[in-house]
Amino acid sequence: MTAPTASAAAGRAHPPSMDALLKRDEAPAALARFGREAVKEALRRAMAGGETRAEALWETAGRALERRFAPTLVRAINATGVLLHTNLGRAPLSAAARAALAEAAAGYATVEYDAGSGARGKRQDHVRALARDLFACGDALAVNNNAAAVLLALAALARGREVLVSRGELVAIGGSFKVPEILEASGARLREVGTTNRTTPDDYRAAFSPDVALLLSVHPSNYEIRGYTRRPAPAELARLARDAGVPWLHDQGTGAVVPLDAFGVPDEPTVAECLDAGADLVTFSGDKLFSGPQAGLLVGRAELVARAAAHPVARAVRPDKLTLAALAATLAEWKTGAWRDFPVYRAAAAPLDELEARGERLRQRAAAGAGVSADVVASLAAFGGGTSPEKLFPSRALALSSASRSAAAITASLRERRPPIVARVEAGRVLLDLRSIAPEEDADVGEALAALAGMR
Ligand SMILES: *Cc1c(COP(=O)(O)O)cnc(C)c1O
Repeated sequence: MTAPTASAAAGRAHPPSMDALLKRDEAPAALARFGREAVKEALRRAMAGGETRAEALWETAGRALERRFAPTLVRAINATGVLLHTNLGRAPLSAAARAALAEAAAGYATVEYDAGSGARGKRQDHVRALARDLFACGDALAVNNNAAAVLLALAALARGREVLVSRGELVAIGGSFKVPEILEASGARLREVGTTNRTTPDDYRAAFSPDVALLLSVHPSNYEIRGYTRRPAPAELARLARDAGVPWLHDQGTGAVVPLDAFGVPDEPTVAECLDAGADLVTFSGDKLFSGPQAGLLVGRAELVARAAAHPVARAVRPDKLTLAALAATLAEWKTGAWRDFPVYRAAAAPLDELEARGERLRQRAAAGAGVSADVVASLAAFGGGTSPEKLFPSRALALSSASRSAAAITASLRERRPPIVARVEAGRVLLDLRSIAPEEDADVGEALAALAGMR
């Protein structure tokens, strides 16, 4: 405590001078961390609040500086049970992809340089051969995300002309990917075919004209149409496009490389299956089932990929060196079989008894106090990220409830932690799904449970 000044004693306190504040013990660490300008600004604001005691001024300024400079994009623990959660950054990267990214970030990198010949290299070459090999396709192009891949393909192949799309596929995927809007932005014209629930090959045939440049189909990423439905099989779409002499572009979306049947999720077509079925060009995200960084890939016939690559939009949506490094590492791991250790596939493959045992250990942390009660319960997890939300598979969750605190209050205190823990609420209980929590994160979750248990 500083001694009260004469004027404070007289009833009218004056704040200390800036110089005096900056000579105090709190100053050196704060100046080193936040810089002189920000520190002075924070102290001035604290003084404007009417406070006159130096210690209290430093406390207020310190808190304000912490808040101002705290990063908001931080690692989070995903306890939602949705393995590919768009709000939580979709797929965590593999160890190899993280290492490749860190190396490319640390200094200069051979982005457009061929170290072998010393000549200029091509940015796409880092992923091109790997993608061609993995998908057995003519060529491949990487861009910023799948929305950009679709936009680029439409602009390059159908600008000013018509694109046939089934009315059942004029969908919105996530908040901002709306097929009709992307089509409009590309300069292509939408020609709607069939109805919402039924589109037949004859509907497509009736819509073909010399003005049609492309047949577009879209993977039903986050919805299902059930009941009296019909959509042409992939082989039928391929035949329709071939007969009409136009390319078939399939927006596959998820980037599935292997079938998901082994994880309890049937009927998720892989990229290679779409190409095999006759799609001329397939687009997908890098960070969904493909498990890489945010990116979009166009794979398929070399001549179509070349037209996309040559379009001005390709330059506007090209990937950076960090994305390319992580993408190349991920592509290589799909080929070698190392993908089984990708965080998403490790989580998907975790046996139920293992989830149960981890849940039981965590339950005991919560049982240490009276603030919260916890049970290990059956739950359902999902791949998410464009894999049908209806395709759920079994999981185990820790169900939290409390006599004194609402579910909303419990989730709020979990979110306040660093790293924040993001849970879901079901029937008034807070569920922490163990399938999307990595085993390495159990210690953090245990700490959070112990803290909750200690509260009343
Ligand atoms: C996810 C998805 C998109 C959007 O991909 P982004 O990588 O988020 O831009 C587009 N189409 C389909 C079918 C999708 O599943």
